[in-house]
Amino acid sequence: MSPKAKFVPKFRAGVLGATGIVGQRLVELLADHPWFELTAVAASERSSGKKYSEAVKWHLHEPIPPAAADLLVKGLEPTLDCDFVFSALDSSVAGTAEEEFARAGYPVVSNSKNHRMAPDVPLLIPEVNASHLDAIPVQQKNRGYGSGFIVTNPNCSTAGLVLVLKPLADAFGLEKMFVVTMQAVSGAGYPGVASLDILGNVIPFIGGEEEKMEEEPQKLLGHWDGARFVEAGLGISAHCNRVPVENGHLECVSLSLKKVATLREVREALRSFTVSDELATLPTAVKNPVVVLEDENRPQPRRDVNAGNGMAAAVGRVRECPLLDVKLTLLSHNLLRGAAGAALLNAELLAARGLFRRSRVPAAESAEPQAVAQ
Ligand code: NAP
Repeated sequence: MSPKAKFVPKFRAGVLGATGIVGQRLVELLADHPWFELTAVAASERSSGKKYSEAVKWHLHEPIPPAAADLLVKGLEPTLDCDFVFSALDSSVAGTAEEEFARAGYPVVSNSKNHRMAPDVPLLIPEVNASHLDAIPVQQKNRGYGSGFIVTNPNCSTAGLVLVLKPLADAFGLEKMFVVTMQAVSGAGYPGVASLDILGNVIPFIGGEEEKMEEEPQKLLGHWDGARFVEAGLGISAHCNRVPVENGHLECVSLSLKKVATLREVREALRSFTVSDELATLPTAVKNPVVVLEDENRPQPRRDVNAGNGMAAAVGRVRECPLLDVKLTLLSHNLLRGAAGAALLNAELLAARGLFRRSRVPAAESAEPQAVAQ
């Protein structure tokens, strides 16, 4: 290790909804995280009071991380032993719980839909709109939150889509978009869609999903003007379908661009999309968040869902659209890029920008301090 490496204690993270599909991914991703350590887990009354290993129906291939297995699952009182919380709560409870945690002084990094479109809450994809974090002081003032605040990540199908739209919006401007999704069953949580409904079948309806896909990109691709979010004004029509795939949302997109572009220029804009120097220091960031595939039958969920450690959107079939200008197919991991990985990346950016505070000296600090690239 370099003698110049800076030793700082890790921030202590709590996970609300830690027993769910997204919560489990967060618990797994936090196991060896260089900046954060998991110190608290919370869920419903069904789980609280039990050891995490007893409360959770663990779905992942790797075993439950030992540091999480013995944690006692708490309820949603905002008194958790941590510096900030991730929220992977069911949306029936996330709205109020997240507000209570923020009011009690916790930064809340949320996956849930409840606050995404609020006029003072950043809906964040660091590679797309990191400047929206400037809304945090306004949110704190509006709501009397003190040091707490709420930051959200987008809906799982919006996340990969907007990552792909961003370089095209910057290079050519976007006018209209038509998108059809084929979304994995893990996007519905656990137990999610009944096997008898989805095996050998496609369900052409996901409640609320088309509305989210038509609204959220407007905020993500818009800008914060110092007092409010100004929407991008992009015309969007979305069709959302549930398909019998475990992980990975596939999306067929047709776009009209403001500026005339050749297919080569479109591919080049996607391929050359790289993250800023600030983002490159974040542990979960990938240098190229859009991966362009050349084979005519890619991307495919089984083969490409883990592109860029599950944090990149894989794009293929870039071609002319006879109705609009250009069409393409994209794929992203709904639980990583679309949920747990997205929240983790958001938290890393917040930490790097000095928006987290250590509320007390953690016990682990004296044991083994970590080198942090910040
Ligand atoms: P899930 O598997 O159904 O998990 C829901 C979690 O919420 C569980 O930990 C559950 O605890 C907890 N919960 C439910 N009712 C509660 C209550 N009354 N009080 C306290 N905790 C309660 O759902 P998920 O798929 O992980 O999704 C979590 C959130 O992320 C949702 O808001 C979802 O919309 C959003 N999201 C999901 C995805 C995805 O791909 N799955 C992507 C983006 C965003 P118990 O186990 O104790 O019941």
